[in-house]
Amino acid sequence: MSRMALITGASSGIGQELARCFAGDGWDVVLAARREDKLKELAGELEAQHQVSARTEAVDLANPSAPRQLFERLRGEGVALDFLVNNAGFGQAGAFAESDVDRVAAMLQLNMVSLTLLTRLVLPGMVARGRGKVLNVASTAAFQPGPNLAVYAATKAYVLSFSEALDAELRGTGVTVTCLCPGATETEFAREANMEGTAVFKRGLLPMGSAADVAREGYRACMDGRRVVITGAVNRAGALASKVMPRRLVTAVAGKLMAH
Ligand code: NAP
Repeated sequence: MSRMALITGASSGIGQELARCFAGDGWDVVLAARREDKLKELAGELEAQHQVSARTEAVDLANPSAPRQLFERLRGEGVALDFLVNNAGFGQAGAFAESDVDRVAAMLQLNMVSLTLLTRLVLPGMVARGRGKVLNVASTAAFQPGPNLAVYAATKAYVLSFSEALDAELRGTGVTVTCLCPGATETEFAREANMEGTAVFKRGLLPMGSAADVAREGYRACMDGRRVVITGAVNRAGALASKVMPRRLVTAVAGKLMAH
């Protein structure tokens, strides 16, 4: 049986680069996201360059029934997953009181519920085989509350906490869970989240990672079975400072960085 990686949010940014990492090492991939044209283009590239099988799954993972349907479809076709990469996610900057209720619901569903359910569905097979790796993409936003980015930061704090707990729980099973925490990275994320004008994404203010570098670091950490990886020295220092500084101060600084 081939060894297969399911990568969500593979149509752009970090997910696309993670797919290149897996395929580059010879793993077959299932690429999931909503934009089928982008997925098919990437699948063609990976199959041609790396002689792997790349399957596409056009799916809206903010739809509550999507994780189960996707899992059942793959299981029905005998696909056994050795790697699960929960990367799909989005943010939304702005005052919470004025936020779009449907978008808030979709963010909670995609960033947390869908990630949790996919993990729950895929895990038993990994545990039964005594091997498997889950890579959950959080953010440096996981380390502090984010005024004007409150829901997104909270979803990523959830991803970090869930991943750390699960990795500890799975000790000795042959299955590991890695949480990738990137800082600002050049992808479609900032535009989608209306964060292009914020201090975090202003050019030259803080170092901006490339999607390829972030993906490589996350991929390596996942393969090494590391629990948490924060990309970039400045981001690692920021996460450490958030742990030792008073919470109100941390929140105030985060608020300045998120402001337009
Ligand atoms: P991106 O370029 O916007 O990619 C987001 C991916 O998620 C796309 O492939 C998108 O595909 C997919 N997606 C969005 N909504 C979806 C839905 N409803 N159903 C299925 N797929 C969906 O941004 P990115 O930076 O690569 O983001 C990847 C992850 O990194 C996210 O979890 C993000 O929170 C995290 N992150 C990003 C940064 C950053 O600065 N870029 C920093 C820290 C953490 P479709 O639109 O085709 O569905």
